[in-house]
Amino acid sequence: MSHTVVIGGGICGLAAGSSLAAQGEQVTVLEAQHFLGGLATTLRGKTGAGFDFGPHAYHARNQRVLDLFKEIASDGFPARKKNVSIKFRGKYYKYPLEALDIAKSMSPIIAARAFLDYFWESVRRKVRPKPLVSAEDWVIQAMGRTLYGMFFGPYTAKVWGMPPSQLAASFAQHRIPHISLMQVVVSSLRKGYAKRTGTEHRYAPLVIELFYPPKGAGLISQRMAERIRAASPNNRVCTSTLVTGIDVDGDRVTGVRYRTVPATDRGGQLCMLASGTEGTVDPFAGQRGPEERLGCDRIVNTAPLPALIELLGAAASAEAKAAARYLRFRALTIVGLRVKRTGALPAQSIYFQDKTFNRLSETRNYGGSEICAADETILLCDITCDVNDAIWNADADELGRICARELEQEGFMKLSELAESVVLRSTFGYPVYMVGYERAIDTLMTELMRFPGLVTGGRQGLYKYVDMDIASEMGLAMADFFASGRSKRDAIGTIPYEDRVFA
Ligand SMILES: Cc1cc2nc3c(=O)[nH]c(=O)nc-3n(C[C@H](O)[C@H](O)[C@H](O)COP(=O)(O)OP(=O)(O)OC[C@H]3O[C@@H](n4cnc5c(N)ncnc54)[C@H](O)[C@@H]3O)c2cc1C
Repeated sequence: MSHTVVIGGGICGLAAGSSLAAQGEQVTVLEAQHFLGGLATTLRGKTGAGFDFGPHAYHARNQRVLDLFKEIASDGFPARKKNVSIKFRGKYYKYPLEALDIAKSMSPIIAARAFLDYFWESVRRKVRPKPLVSAEDWVIQAMGRTLYGMFFGPYTAKVWGMPPSQLAASFAQHRIPHISLMQVVVSSLRKGYAKRTGTEHRYAPLVIELFYPPKGAGLISQRMAERIRAASPNNRVCTSTLVTGIDVDGDRVTGVRYRTVPATDRGGQLCMLASGTEGTVDPFAGQRGPEERLGCDRIVNTAPLPALIELLGAAASAEAKAAARYLRFRALTIVGLRVKRTGALPAQSIYFQDKTFNRLSETRNYGGSEICAADETILLCDITCDVNDAIWNADADELGRICARELEQEGFMKLSELAESVVLRSTFGYPVYMVGYERAIDTLMTELMRFPGLVTGGRQGLYKYVDMDIASEMGLAMADFFASGRSKRDAIGTIPYEDRVFA
């Protein structure tokens, strides 16, 4: 019988592990943190109230994954309609922003300029198409320079920490809703037709039904881990276990090396997710156990793709190491506030352009009815940042006060109602699709084809900006691949990276 080691106990690794365990395979999951779930976890503050990395609501475009989530949480997984807003030019609108709302928010002069720009770009791209290299190129040709300058340019720079001219065109194509002013105009002229909003999301259909377990998103990961353990006494799910190396003989996987590591909670910091290969930060420093070895013939990796190449050490080619160094992640600091009031926000989440945080959410509004005491509520502020910048280094109380003050200005709470502030950090919040990243990815995809017993998937492991449903789909696909006995070349050799669910 094969023995599969899964690196990372996030939702992708646990989906892979539970599927393999259900098929009778021996599975060991090694997770660096002192808890399971990765970004999809729920951690507890002083009073037991739950804090997520931004409320993680479940939805699925894939029926197999949705059925899996519902089966795992069959005792309570209430569905809610999506209700997300954005504050734009001083007013609240439905998110994502619709062209009609943008048009309404403009003065007649700016609206005329936006339409002229948009019209000019529509004609120009037909008459004289330009190669689209960056996200800036893509948004300007799709929506015109005025809309780009008013909203997409500044917001993208704030969230990603770099101007859209440095982000790849494919980033905009995949992740930015496409706003068509022409659709707004055409539908306004056609009497009797349903009005079109003018907003389309080509690659991420706008999901309207969300599910959230009452006590917190982390429930699904815990239940997946229980399934792995229950399937066989030989299976193990280990936390506080950092994988520090992968052993191969030629191209054949023979084992992993690991160390036990301390918890990453310190004071108001509930955790810091990291791979241990970052170099610039190491939350596992001190008290590391001795390096130990575990034999296996298959590995499912869900740790960040550059970390995987580092773990392969001398087995990875110089080209792959150079390509891995090109990839980078935007870090994340979530500020969690426990607030002495029963409810605060008129929506589940609200996006802001001009606050310290990008998104503000209230877990209770997603369905987290038991996330904290009935007379309190949990607010989560998502802040993207870079490792070791001012936000990253600020403590939980300081960030809590900054966010609470901004919330007070918006009328959502009073500073005196703040009962607790915590932070959750991750060195890998968002894979950054920089201009030219596709070349680095191509090199890595070719490199990984060499190792038949090693697959990589998940948001970090495949370097794809995906949600929990796709991360879970990736886990199931890696388990299916090993169960099928097919070669990697046969299973994924002809599938382009964009369509791959593992490599
Ligand atoms: C702010 C934010 C909000 C989000 N909201 C939603 C949402 O509402 N709905 C939704 O569907 N999705 C949401 N997502 C996306 C979702 O979090 C991810 O798609 C999903 O959790 C990714 O799971 P994963 O297992 O691929 O990766 P991760 O959760 O990152 O898991 C990887 C695991 O590997 C571990 N690891 C890393 N290196 C090592 C090592 N060397 N040894 C051992 N272990 C290691 C890490 O500790 C981690 O637990 C959100 C993401 C963010 C950042």
